[in-house]
Amino acid sequence: MPKQKTTTEMEDILAELKYSFVTITREYSWEMGHALMNHKGKCYNIHGHNYRMEVEIRGDINPNTGMVMDFSQVDDIIESVIIKYDHKLFMNKKDPRMKLVQEAYPFEGEPTAENLAWVLFYKTDLAIDDEYANDTPRLERVTLYETDKASATVLRS
Ligand SMILES: [Zn+2]
Repeated sequence: MPKQKTTTEMEDILAELKYSFVTITREYSWEMGHALMNHKGKCYNIHGHNYRMEVEIRGDINPNTGMVMDFSQVDDIIESVIIKYDHKLFMNKKDPRMKLVQEAYPFEGEPTAENLAWVLFYKTDLAIDDEYANDTPRLERVTLYETDKASATVLRS
């Protein structure tokens, strides 16, 4: 005869949760121009992409709200970061064309998906830290899509 179960399903789930964690993910998109001064192909040209970014935040579920973080609050924080990139043109600050395109914003290094994802991770992390001094919620991952098929991901190490 099978042993009688003494815990409820919810208690089982909560016990299991001690060994895992919860993340929430939100997606954003904007238009941006860039040019890669060291690229041998067409990315050398000044051109634009419809960038898409996934932001993944890790945290404890607040027992009162049932949430890691309210999505509208996530939006407030992330949109304050994205507004500095939306409809802007970023070029390597060493690119000699910077002198000709005065509207271009100087970027430290090549504004590739990888480097942009790094900067966006860093700035998003700071913005979340400004709101939450403690360790939760915290930024876990940023994935930046330059096209539907090409993306770069930065993970917290
Ligand atoms: Zn490009």
